[in-house]
Amino acid sequence: MTSGERHPRVRPGGELVVRFFGVRGSTPCCSPEVHRYGGNTSCVVVEAPGTRPILLDLGTGSRLYGESLRRADGTPFRAAALVSRLHWDHVQGLPFFGPALCAGSEIEIYAPPPGCGMTLAEAIDSCIRPPFFPVTVAELPGSIRVSEAEPGRTFAVDEVSVTTRTVPHVGPTAGFRLDWQGVSITYIPDHQQPGVGSTRVDDEVLALADGVDLLIHDAQYTAEEFEQKSNWGHSTVPYAVEVARQARVRTLALFHHDPLHDDPTVDRLLGEARVQAGCAVEVIAAREGLDLRFPARTGPAAQPLPAALAFGPR
Ligand SMILES: [Zn+2]
Ligand SMILES: [Zn+2]
Repeated sequence: MTSGERHPRVRPGGELVVRFFGVRGSTPCCSPEVHRYGGNTSCVVVEAPGTRPILLDLGTGSRLYGESLRRADGTPFRAAALVSRLHWDHVQGLPFFGPALCAGSEIEIYAPPPGCGMTLAEAIDSCIRPPFFPVTVAELPGSIRVSEAEPGRTFAVDEVSVTTRTVPHVGPTAGFRLDWQGVSITYIPDHQQPGVGSTRVDDEVLALADGVDLLIHDAQYTAEEFEQKSNWGHSTVPYAVEVARQARVRTLALFHHDPLHDDPTVDRLLGEARVQAGCAVEVIAAREGLDLRFPARTGPAAQPLPAALAFGPR
C-alpha cells in the first residue's frame, strides 16, 4: 500500500485505489480546528480497473467527490454506492452529488433493508422530498436505482466482489468487504462496541474483516467519552484497534471521527492507537484527500504488498 497526496490523478493500471472524501461521524463540522482531517461525513471511493467507481456511503463527502468529476469527454457517469445505514451522516450528500443532478448518470445504491415498515426506496424517498428538499429522488435528472442488500449476501460490482454482513449499531446496519485481485478492503463506519472496556468482537464483524489489507473502522470516541455514550452505536479508538488485531488486518484506518475531536485530538488518538497496536497492525487516521493504493495480486503465490510509506497526520 502506498499513500498519495491530495487526490492526484489516478493512473490506469493494476491497482485498487481507496480515496477518502468524508471521514467525520454523526454530523458535518467546519472550523479551522478540524481543517487537516476534514469535516465532511462518510464517503470513501474505491476505484479499480474495469469497475465503476464504488462509493462507500453518501455522506457530505460525496459532494466533494462529485465536484472532482469534471468530465470533459461527456462520458455518462456510472457508479455503485454501498450505503451502510440510512442515518443522515451516511446519505446526506446524495441530493448534492453532482452526477445525480446530470441527465444520463446512473447511480446504483445498495443498502440493508431499513426496517420501520418501509422498503429501502420508500425510506430514501421519504427524506429527499418536500418539505425537506425541493424535489423528489425521481425528479433528480440522473437515474438512481436502489437495491436492498440483505446482509450475508455476496454480489459483484463489475470486477469487485462485495460481501455484506450485519454490524451491531442502532438499527439495521451493514458492513462491506470488497475483494479484487487478491486485495481486500473492509468498511465498518458505525459499530456498537459491546460495553465499556469490552474486547469481545461480533463473529460477523470478524468474518468480514478477516485478514484484510485495509480495515476502515468506526473510531468515534475516547474511552472516557464512551462511558457517557455507551449505547450511542459507536466504538472507541482502543476498540477499533482490538477489532483490527483480532481480525489480523494489515492496516487500520481510524474513521468516523467525532465532530468534537479537533485535529490535535485526532493526532493524539492516532499516537495512542499506534502504541496499542505495536507491530501487529499499522494504524493510520483517515483524512479528506488521502488516497491509498493497492497493487493487484495475481494469486496466493504473489509477493506481499510493499510496506506502506510512513505517513502521519499533516
Ligand atoms: Zn455514522
Ligand atoms: Zn449511525
